[in-house]
Amino acid sequence: MTTPAKSMDAIMALCKRRGFVYQASDIYGGINGFWDYGPLGAQLKKNLRDAWWQDMIMNPAWGRKGPDGERVRCVPLETCIIQHPKVWEASGHVAGFNDPMVDDKETKQRFRADQLSGLFAGGSDVIMPRCTVVASTTGEAVEQIASDKSLRKTIGIRNLGQVNAEAGLVEADFGQGMQAWSVRVVPVPLLRENAADIPSPFTGKKGSLTEPRQFNLMFFSYTGAVFNEESKVFLRPETAQGIFIHFKNVVDSTRVKVPFGIGNTGRSFRNEVTPRNFTFRSREFEQAELEFFCHPDESQDWYRFWRDFRMEWWKSIGLAGDNLVLREHGKDELSHYSIGTSDVEYRFPFTAPGFGELEGIAHRGCFDLTQHQEHSRVKLDYFDQERGDLLPNGSRKGERYIPHCIEPAAGLDRGALALICEAYTVDPSRPSPELLKFHPRVAPIKAAVFPLVNKDGMPEVAERLYDELFARFGRTGLIETDPKQSIGKRYARMDEAGCPFCFTIDGETLTAQTVTVRDRDTGAQERIALDKVTGYLAERLV
Ligand code: ATP
Repeated sequence: MTTPAKSMDAIMALCKRRGFVYQASDIYGGINGFWDYGPLGAQLKKNLRDAWWQDMIMNPAWGRKGPDGERVRCVPLETCIIQHPKVWEASGHVAGFNDPMVDDKETKQRFRADQLSGLFAGGSDVIMPRCTVVASTTGEAVEQIASDKSLRKTIGIRNLGQVNAEAGLVEADFGQGMQAWSVRVVPVPLLRENAADIPSPFTGKKGSLTEPRQFNLMFFSYTGAVFNEESKVFLRPETAQGIFIHFKNVVDSTRVKVPFGIGNTGRSFRNEVTPRNFTFRSREFEQAELEFFCHPDESQDWYRFWRDFRMEWWKSIGLAGDNLVLREHGKDELSHYSIGTSDVEYRFPFTAPGFGELEGIAHRGCFDLTQHQEHSRVKLDYFDQERGDLLPNGSRKGERYIPHCIEPAAGLDRGALALICEAYTVDPSRPSPELLKFHPRVAPIKAAVFPLVNKDGMPEVAERLYDELFARFGRTGLIETDPKQSIGKRYARMDEAGCPFCFTIDGETLTAQTVTVRDRDTGAQERIALDKVTGYLAERLV
């Protein structure tokens, strides 16, 4: 049976009405690409973040053994949003974190050129090479860069030095001085040559589109009192680099041994050209990233391990079913550094029947540590005492290497949005048809306690039970109590907020010491002993 499509408008309205998500700066008309979380949304996101932290850092992969037969080990980290600007040169974000953008001169609308191409079937298929710092090479692209001045301008090369097509190398100045770059072709179909012939997607008129221009997605600011190029700093576009630059510090200051992971959560910023689809593509968002360092020979096994675990994990918090897929990238889709990448994708109402990325699991090889080693001139290799030839005394000679890295990088805002979309259910047979079927682990409200009527000693018993539940479960989420309105209305409010269990104190409670417990998803009620409520909840709030 096919389920009817969920309406994004209805979901967004519920989110605002019940305090999950508000437009940032709402009373000033909002600000495009920024969203705030209301009380229920903030708690939902915290539960998601806590679940990630617990299952990726504190008890990684649920205590499973890794492909090496040992228990998986991870440690936490917290790093700054603003780092030394060289971090972003080394990571490739200064030179490569660009989107080609086209402006409509008439309507002043701006959009991504690569998205434009989809609108014009049979349009130009000009492939634009982008410079990236990778080892793989494409001689042809190098020659193109050398011979085509306007192409150089488009990709931001200010001055060109030596070119070596055979090695796939160019010396180029992107504004940070002359440096050697390897080149590969990134297939970004651009309407580069014939922008004048392309009708504007907004007005349908030809001639109002500009040529595509590169647009760096990093927000920037200045440190100190003087605003110039020297004081310019970037807001991080991902949390991952903060981890790589502390690889050595973590190895030196803790007892971790490769293989191990470093995990963190935190805000990232991308000046997205076209923020859209509610919180899905925002300009400020939160990531939960793990960098798992391992020996190169074991990296493929670890890649598969994390890829499969991450899929299982999303299912475990309620995204099971056809709406969740694991998609392995084709070779032509891989980022310049990646040996393999898979995405966990969710079928959001606005992507259906297609899917949108929730998390990317990338095998980044030794790209990041090598880059930071080169740019910082600090050795970031690792001496592994348990490898190398066997010595006569029975110990190992040791091996020095730059670890490979597997990166499961999830977005907490996209995660929270997927949880909301998945939970959103319309059941016309109910008096109040909208409900959120959250998995108990992430539900922002864990339980509610209601006196059936606000008299006859029921409020007092309800308050005692509330206190008991609050003391036991208050740290995992909200516990509510509400003596007002009809019981049906109170249930409906809890259904809409996604509260899995409501306990009601009624006349029988006073005589038989039992309460009713109502299941949100089925509306079914059963009676249990008052003194069993805590245990009942403990079993279900896993
Ligand atoms: P996309 O292709 O959708 O732009 P990405 O591949 O650039 O995403 P990554 O750099 O892999 O994303 O970041 C890891 C995760 O961070 C993504 O899977 C996503 O959940 C989240 N994320 C990235 N960009 C945004 C954004 N603009 N808004 C909200 N979440 C984001």
